Amino acid sequence: MDLGDGIRKALTKITGKALIDESVIKSMLKDIQRALILSDVNIELVYKISKEIEKRALNEKPPIGRSMNEHVSAIVYEELTKIMGEGRKIELKKQTIMVLGLFGSGKTTQIGKISNYLKKRGMSVGVIAADMMRPAAYDQLEQLSKQVGCNFYGKRNANSSDVVKEGLQRLKNDVIIIDTSGRDALDDELTTELKSIEQIAKPDEKILVMSADIGQIAKQQAEEFNKSVGLTGVIITKMDGSGKGGGALTACSVAGIKVVFIGVGEKLDDIEEFNPGKFVGRLLGVPDFEALIEKVKTAMPEGANEIPEEFDIDTFYKQLKAARNMGPLKGLFEMMGMVNVPKDVVEQGEQKMDQYEAIINSMTKAERKNPDLVRKHPSRVTRIANGSGISPSTVKEFITQFGKMKKMYEQLQKNKGMQKNLQRMLKGKGFGF
Ligand code: GDP
Ligand code: MG
Repeated sequence: MDLGDGIRKALTKITGKALIDESVIKSMLKDIQRALILSDVNIELVYKISKEIEKRALNEKPPIGRSMNEHVSAIVYEELTKIMGEGRKIELKKQTIMVLGLFGSGKTTQIGKISNYLKKRGMSVGVIAADMMRPAAYDQLEQLSKQVGCNFYGKRNANSSDVVKEGLQRLKNDVIIIDTSGRDALDDELTTELKSIEQIAKPDEKILVMSADIGQIAKQQAEEFNKSVGLTGVIITKMDGSGKGGGALTACSVAGIKVVFIGVGEKLDDIEEFNPGKFVGRLLGVPDFEALIEKVKTAMPEGANEIPEEFDIDTFYKQLKAARNMGPLKGLFEMMGMVNVPKDVVEQGEQKMDQYEAIINSMTKAERKNPDLVRKHPSRVTRIANGSGISPSTVKEFITQFGKMKKMYEQLQKNKGMQKNLQRMLKGKGFGF
């Protein structure tokens, strides 16, 4: 059970109750405590926040127009937001960013994501591969830089300080990001290496990358790195997969180190500025339209936000691609406030998208324009099934589903008001409902 599930379940203790008395509050708090402890939040902090929620819930009168129930939920929201710490934005300016962290924490991947983030906001970015411990680190960063379209500097079998020195001379970008070596733990060797890079680069930002699954150990780790090289912020990665994200976030808050980003997946777009209010809102199942619209905007390929006249499989494919660029379905559902979508529905959805993509890739141009060709010729179904490795029945199902979507699309085109709203939404101008 993740933190969100636990907290929402706890809140059901007060929904629909005519009388919210001490025993109801205590029972809700027990569930909240359990959820926080399972998420590896420090026990003293759990105790402190429970006391605070209890005190406020029992003593404060709800403001006019707010039910007791809503008031207690608001208190839970506010107190949780407080313990999640503070976010900090990376400035869009000329600067050098040094990224540090232990093995496998997600340094190199986040560098790809941050470069992508900055590029989308108009900055030119160059990356330096100064992780000499892992031979594959060079190729991984080079590959990511190609994907993002930023500059790259690296040198094999060299000294990390020299690579940084040369990289800084060569790269003329607004933002330079330096990837560094990891270790299993912060030892003297790593400290020496990082200090030496730090002295050469004099970075504006020194950002520690930690994986959410270390939970409350994040406090100790952040403090150690802070003591040896100094930190300006942290990134908590793998917030999508670990149940201990709450533990890691609160630990950073206790250590007094601000969270710059959270990593929510393996793709380039799977990074979010950390905003504790939004984060807790999502845990509680409150929709996060701002984040959703931001995602839609950045995931849409050029021109894809116009509603085309003709809806054929190519159009559908473009939209499918854009949707996939937006990351895992689970995250999208959560942003829409649909937090209790069953896991198998999410997984089935992902699987279906994979299958549809494979089917479309095996269709000819003529078939994409006119899917009826497939419906009418069983030999085409067989060919597509063989080509895509998807069963003939699924191929037929796709053609039928597509027919339904096309109908819906045509209805939408007739409905001008709805269409305007959709376009406004895709352009990030908010809903006009
Ligand atoms: P490094 O050793 O610190 O440079 O770590 P890498 O960047 O190579 O990442 C280690 C692994 O974590 C890779 O398999 C990444 O795909 C994965 N990873 C990185 N960030 C995230 C994230 O936010 N979520 C998930 N699920 N995986 C991530
Ligand atoms: Mg790496």
